[in-house]
Amino acid sequence: MRIYCQYPRWPGGATGGFPNGNCNGMKDTLHVVCPHCGQTSKLPSGKPPLSAHCGTCHNAFFDGHPASVDGARFEKHKRESDLPVLVDVWAPWCGPCRAMAPMFEQAAQELEPKVRLLKLNADEEPRTTSELGVAAIPTLLLLHNGQIVACSAGAMDTRRIVGWVRSHVPVA
Ligand SMILES: [Zn+2]
Repeated sequence: MRIYCQYPRWPGGATGGFPNGNCNGMKDTLHVVCPHCGQTSKLPSGKPPLSAHCGTCHNAFFDGHPASVDGARFEKHKRESDLPVLVDVWAPWCGPCRAMAPMFEQAAQELEPKVRLLKLNADEEPRTTSELGVAAIPTLLLLHNGQIVACSAGAMDTRRIVGWVRSHVPVA
């Protein structure tokens, strides 16, 4: 079964500025959702995100690993993150999902801190999975400002994941 995977192109196209940024493509602050505790923080845009730590749990905001999320935590990233969110919808029994896991892990190292990478277990979060319109796994969804901007069903290797995200997100 194929899922409906057609979403509008990234605003401004792949060569456009940062979505919702000002004309310089920069915002004064960036809302970042902590992958460890879910707390949303404002980072000054001048601060290098890779060196920033969460004021609540003191973990690094970016550690080069996708964060596993439940439905509630996913919603928080979806609603509050200024960063584009790439979510891998997967399940433990799915062979292609397991095959893609190390590639997705590798993609996090290439895409952070421009993109937040999440993993959502479809078995544990069937409601969120169905709300996202996911009918086959693995599925990758790219979201920004609460909207799905792209999705892709089927496993991809690191190069294709990164290339696919960059074709939709100009800053990544
Ligand atoms: Zn935290």
